[in-house]
Amino acid sequence: MKLYGTVVGTTGVSEVTIEGEQIVSLCPASSASVPSNLVIAPGFIDIQINGYGGLSFGTPEVTPEALDYVVRAQRRIGVLFICPTVCTTSHENTIHALRMLSEARRDPELAHAVPCYHLEGPYIGKEDGPRGAHPLPHVRPPDWDEFRRFQDAAEGKIGIITLGPEQPGAIPFIERLVESGVIAAIGHTGATPEQIRDAVAAGARLSTHLGNGSHARIDRHPNYIWEQLAADELCASIIADGHHLPPSVVKCMVRAKGVDRTILVSDAVAAAGLPPGVYPSEGKEIEVLPNGRVQMKGTPYLAGSGLILSEGVGNTVRFAGVSLAEAVQMATRNPASLLGLGETIGTVAPGREANLVLFRWNEQECSLDVESVVVRGRLIRVDEMEDATRPAGHQAF
Ligand SMILES: [Zn+2]
Repeated sequence: MKLYGTVVGTTGVSEVTIEGEQIVSLCPASSASVPSNLVIAPGFIDIQINGYGGLSFGTPEVTPEALDYVVRAQRRIGVLFICPTVCTTSHENTIHALRMLSEARRDPELAHAVPCYHLEGPYIGKEDGPRGAHPLPHVRPPDWDEFRRFQDAAEGKIGIITLGPEQPGAIPFIERLVESGVIAAIGHTGATPEQIRDAVAAGARLSTHLGNGSHARIDRHPNYIWEQLAADELCASIIADGHHLPPSVVKCMVRAKGVDRTILVSDAVAAAGLPPGVYPSEGKEIEVLPNGRVQMKGTPYLAGSGLILSEGVGNTVRFAGVSLAEAVQMATRNPASLLGLGETIGTVAPGREANLVLFRWNEQECSLDVESVVVRGRLIRVDEMEDATRPAGHQAF
């Protein structure tokens, strides 16, 4: 199969040849080739996604079909790899969620789309603000034995854990995570700058949605945000939806961390991908606004993110003044490198497995329109994708 388009970060139309599951060559298209206005990029990678389209990975109702549904729905927006994220809940619910994900991953297609899971909590900061919407009764100090049980339920696939360095025992816990090959991420934290530095020295490598999961008011300096921005050892993930961070903050964070250390995440919740309206959620009502903002009904408080990652890429071009190639890198090569998969996914090059997204780029609006994806060498046009049907028995909004 030959694909024609501008490979992101290059100029002119390229011919990408795919044989089987591999990209075998990448060269300038000959003049006889059909000109193409498509951009060819690596498939997007979302290392923090809690749910989508009415389903959440962390609820007691979750079944293995939820993962299949979300993976298929994400392909429409060019996201080919996800780290399903399970947030703070009871021990039993966490074990259940991880078991369901493990069961789903027995399907080779889902195993391919899900390199690992992200456990966000329960070992995060307890204070109001840093804790965000995570339920206080389930927030607790790190416990290695409990984590081992989580990892057993996950069949070793917890790849990232977000925690608060201020929790008792967090620093030795980070050291053990690092030894066992799990990425320690700092997030939902009210840690002192010293505690941030200790976490970095212990091997923490990521700031989770930097600038969110924090106090409404903090000392202007020093504080945990500056300390993480200044730590070159840390990549920072950001939610570039225009609601979680003002555009100017996205720009400053990208400038401080640099293109190579910024990672775009959706942090999408179940309401993401649903039409505007009011939906029940854990005994409360949430509201999806026409601009994609997800909030507690009748309040200005965010109730998670409704972002789709492809929009985050476009927003980052608009907010941070980076090129399309740089924004794409933040959703492809950077998360791939963090996960230790930089030699496998996240770039378009001969010898690599063909996992691509082909889209039209609207430069005026900084928006991208996904035309098709290539999953392990198989071309799937968005307009020919079957609608993923929501599995029965799930909370249907
Ligand atoms: Zn969070």
